Amino acid sequence: MIIPNLGLTVRTLYGIGRNYAEHAKELGNEIPKEPIIFTKSLASVQWGDGVLELPQISHQVDHEVEVVIAIGQSIRGEFPEAYLTDLIAGMAIGIDVTARDLQKKAKTDGLPWATAKGLPGFAPIGPFVPYRDPVEFSLEVNGAVRQQGSTRDMLHSIAQLLRFVGGRFGLYPGDLIFTGTPAGVGPIQPGDVLKARLKEFASHLTLRAQKR
Ligand code: ZN
Repeated sequence: MIIPNLGLTVRTLYGIGRNYAEHAKELGNEIPKEPIIFTKSLASVQWGDGVLELPQISHQVDHEVEVVIAIGQSIRGEFPEAYLTDLIAGMAIGIDVTARDLQKKAKTDGLPWATAKGLPGFAPIGPFVPYRDPVEFSLEVNGAVRQQGSTRDMLHSIAQLLRFVGGRFGLYPGDLIFTGTPAGVGPIQPGDVLKARLKEFASHLTLRAQKR
């Protein structure tokens, strides 16, 4: 699977949990000392505008608008801050779609989040643009702003995330990282129109939700 306009093959999809203090609080979670890493299945990736399918298996599918970073060069841990723009192939707006009911049950049962985070279409990603930081982003549902964020408010900066994930797993060209969501997550209803934006770039992602 090729990343549109970057020409890289998608390799691994990482997600970062609780990377904005206000979002950690709204779900009643502690603020983590080091990044919380999970993965999303490749089956969850969808590019650009279209339909967001809400699966029968869940009764609460939440939106989490996030900045997505595409890795352009291998990272194995430490690197000078000045290299950051060379290591990153591009950034996009995306939604870390989450079956919150399945995630809550998985947490209670001490089970992985794979089903909650990785169902088909659960990683919609907009057009990639050149990396910039800080950047502001938002999500509107049916024309009303539900989530607004700035990468300035990340608990672990993009450089810190790349060092951490690169140090643990190794990062390679084509890896994608969902860098965490700001406050305001909430359920998506069939018929909702979601519009996610990376403000400075006027880069959008528009999705219409429908029950599968
Ligand atoms: Zn998320």
